[in-house]
Amino acid sequence: MGNTLDGLTDAQRDAVTRSAETLLIAGAPGAGKTEVLARRLCWASREQHLEPHRPLVLARDAYGCAALAARIETLLASPHEELSVYTVSELCERLTAEQARAAGIDELAPVLSAAERLALLLERVQQLELRHHDFRGRPLALLAAIVRRIDRLKSELVDAQAYAAATSDGEEREREFAELFIAHDELLAEHGALDRGGQLIACVRTLRREPQIASEIALRHPLLMVDDWESRSLGERELLTLIAAGGARLTATGDARTGDEGVLALATRYPLAAVVDLTESLRCPQAVLSAATALDPDSARGASGRPAQDREVARFWRCASLRAEAQRTAAELARLTRLEAVEPQRCAVIVRTVATDGPVVAEALGERGVPHRVLGASAFFERIEVRDVLAWLRLLIDPRDAAAVVRALSRPPIELHAVDVARCLQLARRRKLDMVSALAVALASPQLPPEARERIAAFLDLQRAAAAALDEERSDLFVHRLIERLGLRRHQLFSARADDVERLVNLGRLEELAARHVRALPRSTPREFAAYAAAVAESGIGEPEVSDAGPLPGVVIASARDVAGREFDHVFVLTSAEAHDAAGLRALASASTRARERLVLSCAPTSSHSAANGARRPATAPDLDRARAALGLEWEEVEEQLFGPAAALHALFGERRDELLDSVARVGARLGELRFDTDLDVTHVVVRLLELVKLAALLERRAEQPLLEALADINARLTAAATPLAREILLSSPLDELLTGQQAAERVPARAAEEPSLIPFLPRRGDGLVLSASDVEAYRACPLRYKFARVLRIPREPTLNQRFGIVVHQVLERYHQRSATDDGAAAMLRLLDLAWRRAGLGEVGEERQLHAKARAALLRYQARLEGAEGAPRATAGTPRWFERSFSFQLGPHMLRGRVDRIDELPGGGYQLIDYKTGMPKSAEQLREDVQLALYALAAREAWQIEATERTYYYVLDDERVSLGHEDASPTWVEEAVSRAGAGILAQSFEPTPSRAVCAMCDYRIACPAAER
Ligand code: SF4
Repeated sequence: MGNTLDGLTDAQRDAVTRSAETLLIAGAPGAGKTEVLARRLCWASREQHLEPHRPLVLARDAYGCAALAARIETLLASPHEELSVYTVSELCERLTAEQARAAGIDELAPVLSAAERLALLLERVQQLELRHHDFRGRPLALLAAIVRRIDRLKSELVDAQAYAAATSDGEEREREFAELFIAHDELLAEHGALDRGGQLIACVRTLRREPQIASEIALRHPLLMVDDWESRSLGERELLTLIAAGGARLTATGDARTGDEGVLALATRYPLAAVVDLTESLRCPQAVLSAATALDPDSARGASGRPAQDREVARFWRCASLRAEAQRTAAELARLTRLEAVEPQRCAVIVRTVATDGPVVAEALGERGVPHRVLGASAFFERIEVRDVLAWLRLLIDPRDAAAVVRALSRPPIELHAVDVARCLQLARRRKLDMVSALAVALASPQLPPEARERIAAFLDLQRAAAAALDEERSDLFVHRLIERLGLRRHQLFSARADDVERLVNLGRLEELAARHVRALPRSTPREFAAYAAAVAESGIGEPEVSDAGPLPGVVIASARDVAGREFDHVFVLTSAEAHDAAGLRALASASTRARERLVLSCAPTSSHSAANGARRPATAPDLDRARAALGLEWEEVEEQLFGPAAALHALFGERRDELLDSVARVGARLGELRFDTDLDVTHVVVRLLELVKLAALLERRAEQPLLEALADINARLTAAATPLAREILLSSPLDELLTGQQAAERVPARAAEEPSLIPFLPRRGDGLVLSASDVEAYRACPLRYKFARVLRIPREPTLNQRFGIVVHQVLERYHQRSATDDGAAAMLRLLDLAWRRAGLGEVGEERQLHAKARAALLRYQARLEGAEGAPRATAGTPRWFERSFSFQLGPHMLRGRVDRIDELPGGGYQLIDYKTGMPKSAEQLREDVQLALYALAAREAWQIEATERTYYYVLDDERVSLGHEDASPTWVEEAVSRAGAGILAQSFEPTPSRAVCAMCDYRIACPAAER
């Protein structure tokens, strides 16, 4: 062990060597509080001869534990027993294992994760009597929110009984939640399991009841060291103070905040405690601390930062859209990593939430070829390799899950061409078969080339073998064998890339997850595990990622919570333009103080409309504006950029590099087979390598050299080095055409350029297309989603909300067609019951909830429409047409559709009304809405009437959102149709991920942009 005090500041030395019984170390972000904790342990070991494993050290999370243990071991550099560095959850696990009898719990009871408990609740969802918790068509999201709330309450030591007692006289919604809370705990008890919150409550109760347990702990661990006190929940703080009451000497670190949760609040409990204040930040430049203090005054109260030479330490961006923000972030990171040689892992993009913003930022970084890694619980199920297995699990339990089958067919080891996938989907639709059965039929189809049939046969072999074991094997064994059969592990082993090592780790974790599932629910089968994994992936509740103390490969994309305790040279904090609450400001300040060198604070509008349509409306976050003003800086306005040629080259390079590594593994695996075309396979790999060299050479060419000139030169050199066969393949490759023919912004993706055309599957009519308003909307929102839904037409089971929406539309349509003598309200209810039964909807759970909503909404609609007593007429107009269809030519395209209702207005003109059953949107959110603008155009073109009003009628909420007439500019809507039509005809189906659109996308499992 070297000198434990080397390299410390005076204040840090003081903190390390203080001999107080209780020591509170408060300090600025980056002041080295955790380092002091590590050194203090080593000091105690050296000066007080306390063996290193005896201090009980509590870190913030698994990453904090790994980092702290690694640091202590480096400092000790001598043999010792395993250190006692834990998270509070691990400590509780140990305590309940040791004191199970005193705690009154089963020592072998498994501790279920949030995801596992969500799966249990999902099984019971039909029996949950919910009247005041709205499913809004997303039961998983509602259940995930319920599980999170239960976890929060338990972390504050509130159990189900306490909550029920506290709310017994309260609102009905809260009483209903209390019942859910009880049902959740009963489910746990039924399975003989616990959750982390329950374990914490049990530990606190045991220590309160039997304080001698704390004294026993103090004998084993005379020193209790707690890092990041302010991040502890109320329950954790109570547990730790109960342990300290047993006689252990307490050292706690935390920021200098003044509230109850701050480390300084312990001074009231321990009046004799010594306090050391580390006011000097060794990590953050002063500008970063000032920005953080302006956001949350407590975060760096009274702290001083490092002086910085760089004038651009802090910057403030005001972005027109999320896409603009992601693009600028990616451009800056590309510049930093390439021109300033900053290692990507020294940079972080801290997003609002990983689930929603992660894909947008990852896509932009991917376009620039910047290596990156998404961190966080929800990211695990979005890893490519995990999604590959997930797709197989999903199709095995449900062969009708066409999106999962499409992914399995498109990915290794099958890799069927998109056009052949489209043919199989067509077959499934025509014969009304599930996808797996359709593939069996496709084997005999003359439409498919022999190579495609071979691939389908391979798929079916795998599917049959795995399906046979679905109810037989143990889940962990099943998942292990599935991964082996798919060759996913073998595939990764051929690669030397760091992220492939991580992929292997993730595959291992998936097996671990299955093993844990078996331990928690011993009677469960692989089928149940598959259903569980699919539900958890869908819910976004996630699984915590593996944490180690080492740097992560690539730029980190994470939420503020997931980077706590880490530091980076360059930090980009992306936030919404709305005002934040106190917790939000605290998270923003904490995220900002992760920066060692430079900090960018950025805001962008986050409404679903702007996210989906890329609306260019800069908005200012008031909190960021305060920080900007405190630093005397200006906003930098950030607009969306067209994709630049250099970025296109980088993206192409990355794409081709990944393809090459994939094909190396595949071709290598096939070399042992008896085949006549092995040399062709190998030559193709060589040509791909030569193309990669070509792209690298283009990227490295002199700045002033035109691309065409450089390309000719590079081609001459490459063809001279190639064999005759390789030369022939190289010369016929579409790469050069791709590089020279298209503007980078409109480039056809490399993969698509090599794929056979999907033209036969487009809705062609003459030179144009047949389009509806929803087609145009779908393409604008995400071209890839359009391809899945309208070109490949991947079948999907309509969701409950979609079936519900159809029922409401049908009832209204039939209602308006009924005989005039029919009694209004009775007719409406009769039609509702009829349509409800026809749609196969029932009367339990969410369906009952929806039925009650529909009943109330339709009766209200009827009363208003008929001007019944007490109910004002619905509109100032007179209904003239219902469900009126249109069809008209716009440029080369045929536009078709149907308007729900058209009212004639008293002052002349007409109001177009579209019924909606979803959540109401504001007129602002609907500013660039295509549907009603296109209907207004249709009214003029097809019916020769002028639509002076355009209205969305949210039937369930009885809310009308009128868009007026002035925005119904035919020009922009014509342009929107023309752009969408041209894109579809050019088969330009690049994904454009956005939080609003991806959250509602049924094809996430098949989408490459939704994976990390
Ligand atoms: S998940 Fe997002 S990016 Fe992918 S297809 Fe769906 S909407 Fe497009």
